[in-house]
Amino acid sequence: MNADPSPPSAPDLTYLPRIQQTLLDWYAREGRDLPWRRTRDPYAILVSELMLQQTQVDRVIPKWEAWLAQFPTIVALADAPTSAVIKAWAGLGYNRRAIALQRLAQAVVAVHGGRVPDDVPELKALPGIGPYTAGAVAAFAHNRPVAMVDVNIRRLLYRLFVGAEVPEYRLSEGEIWALARAAVPPGRSADWHQSLMDLGATICRPRPLCERCPVREWCRAAPEWAILPPDAPRPTKSQGKWEGSNRQYRGRILRTLGALPHGDALPLPLLGARVREGYTEADAAWLLGLVRALARDGLALLSGDEGAYTVRLP
Ligand code: SF4
Repeated sequence: MNADPSPPSAPDLTYLPRIQQTLLDWYAREGRDLPWRRTRDPYAILVSELMLQQTQVDRVIPKWEAWLAQFPTIVALADAPTSAVIKAWAGLGYNRRAIALQRLAQAVVAVHGGRVPDDVPELKALPGIGPYTAGAVAAFAHNRPVAMVDVNIRRLLYRLFVGAEVPEYRLSEGEIWALARAAVPPGRSADWHQSLMDLGATICRPRPLCERCPVREWCRAAPEWAILPPDAPRPTKSQGKWEGSNRQYRGRILRTLGALPHGDALPLPLLGARVREGYTEADAAWLLGLVRALARDGLALLSGDEGAYTVRLP
């Protein structure tokens, strides 16, 4: 007998209506109360999406609230001194996102007169906005019937309608996006995507908690997870060691520069002494490399000549 060892990979949408209704009801009952879910302001949603890209929800909440108090509109952000934007971002990590957000704000002001577009192609044409963020703004601010796919949504939709993603996904990225578009319930795009994000974050995690899942009955992956060995999912990628990393020193440099009076600069050796205990001349090339990288990212300004460099925020 020639049995095909690989299970079929075409999405099966037979139970889509039940899954949609059950997940929307579950979200109405148990969805997380996050402050950006209480607004339809596309700028505020955009800020939350950029902050959430690489930072956890509980760290983002106070920063998001403080950010909107300091830069309440996209015009205010576009017009703010870049040094203030970098300082306001401090603590979120990956500071390039602060510069990207301000450049985006400036493009919205220049191209759209300060109105964040509600249409995915127009959003995607803006600097720093990819298909996911464009979909998030269109869905969450305007309830547009668009798809968005991030790592959690990809995993969840695949499990629901195709099967377990081990040893690997058997759909292309284009096929996953097509599945995501087909799954959006009419008129409920915002709540649908919030429900997917909540289920993906709390229950359908890399190692899923199927016994707690509201849509287990109709999920194509649930029977597979029941028989897969406990170590079946591949380990998640290590974030790398933080202590002593260049990322840690980038953050220290920006905090040190941010503590200076506006417009003040520090000579390079003085900056080195403030960010690294036991800094010596032998560390100068390493520090200069970090500062140059920050300058390339628009986060710092390097002036002067070799031997007399000074550094400040833009
Ligand atoms: S039943 Fe399990 S695999 Fe399927 S969606 Fe729920 S948690 Fe994920």
